[in-house]
Amino acid sequence: MKSSANPGDLVEVHLSKTIYEGTLLESSEKGIVLLKLDTGYNIGFNKKDILEIKVLKKASLKTEKLEIKKDFQKPNIALILTGGTIANRYDSKTGAVAPLSSPEELFKFYPEIFEIANVAKIEVPFMKASEDMDYKDWQKIAKITKELLNDSNIKGVIVAHGTDTLHYTSSALSFFIKDLNKPVVLTYSQRSSDRASSDAALNLKCSALAAISDIAEVMLVGHGSTNDDFCYAMPGTKVRKLHSSKRDAFKVVNAEPFAKIFPAPAGVHQEGARTSSRPANTESGGNRIEILREYNLRNNKKVKLDLKFEEKIALLKFYPGQDPNILNYYLKNKYKGIIIEASGLGHVPALTSKNSWIPILKEIVSKGIFVGITTQCIYGRVDPYVYSNLRKLHEIGALFLEDMLAETAFVKLGWVLGHPEWNVKEKMLENISGELNDRLGG
Ligand code: ASP
Repeated sequence: MKSSANPGDLVEVHLSKTIYEGTLLESSEKGIVLLKLDTGYNIGFNKKDILEIKVLKKASLKTEKLEIKKDFQKPNIALILTGGTIANRYDSKTGAVAPLSSPEELFKFYPEIFEIANVAKIEVPFMKASEDMDYKDWQKIAKITKELLNDSNIKGVIVAHGTDTLHYTSSALSFFIKDLNKPVVLTYSQRSSDRASSDAALNLKCSALAAISDIAEVMLVGHGSTNDDFCYAMPGTKVRKLHSSKRDAFKVVNAEPFAKIFPAPAGVHQEGARTSSRPANTESGGNRIEILREYNLRNNKKVKLDLKFEEKIALLKFYPGQDPNILNYYLKNKYKGIIIEASGLGHVPALTSKNSWIPILKEIVSKGIFVGITTQCIYGRVDPYVYSNLRKLHEIGALFLEDMLAETAFVKLGWVLGHPEWNVKEKMLENISGELNDRLGG
């Protein structure tokens, strides 16, 4: 199949039974032709299935350099790009996924975000895979977010981020930002924007709707199912990556999402759905937000930061037969706190095993190192009173952290220990940002 069509041209793609019309996109996948349909969705075709690509209109040369279009009739939002797949594209020369050269590149593939809001500010503090981040990156993101939240022209902030450690960052922002006044939305994509199967379009549209809503919370917004139909707005301290590749990779654990977000198909909506009262479902211009639980309302407070963080903390996963001497490493290296992802209700070998953790843990706790217990079950809570070996662990001073996620507990511990004046045990069990859920049964 030969064709004179170039990216940007309006074309017809002829298959044996169907003809698709749309704008040809630059495809990064070998053997795939990528088309942006009128509905706004991207569709990929196998070259071998195409009979003809007919050019209907050549792209105008002037449109090659994409300007970020401003529409001041729409609510202003800000975008912080930090890296990850959502800020990457496939590089056909190297065969690897690499960072976009500019934010404009992202909008080239997904201009739909502008149908909902005006992206008035874009900040790019760094471009990193999220596995390369640490607490200093969380602090940088928090500082920029604060400035944007205190800018009266901005209705909400979107943070585009890699998926792998997104829930650590959402936890960190939940603790670092005080007196939150507007939505802070963290989003992602599992497949880069230049791929037909990318999940970025729906996630960005849902994020824009969340950013202009009345939900003044740190939330992670992304696919609610494997289809391109709706997103969940999920609480930043109660969310976890639970699938390595599916679009709906993130799930709320031990809580409920704030809302379900249904963006209108491209071309239908004119403006964002607004959540004006609580709890009320809202619909506007074909966009719909279905409220699922209580949330903090948008307000006029000025946001403050509390970025203190102790870096000598660890997150340790228990496994059967593990040598407890591993804990000596933390003792020798002067760690200040450890979160243990224990089994079931919070177990580590404690009574009969030759590998009992109790003697070393007792020494650790007596030296003033905090030990927090979470469950590697993911769902549910730990409970020190059910079995006698759990009581032992409790008796030597390890703190059972209820239904807090291990990753959230790790971030919270760094933040709490950053404040030597605080009582660590009390603070770890104080519900600061929805990380503990009293209503959870069991
Ligand atoms: N490893 C990547 C990251 O977390 C994956 C992604 O972006 O989804 O940055």
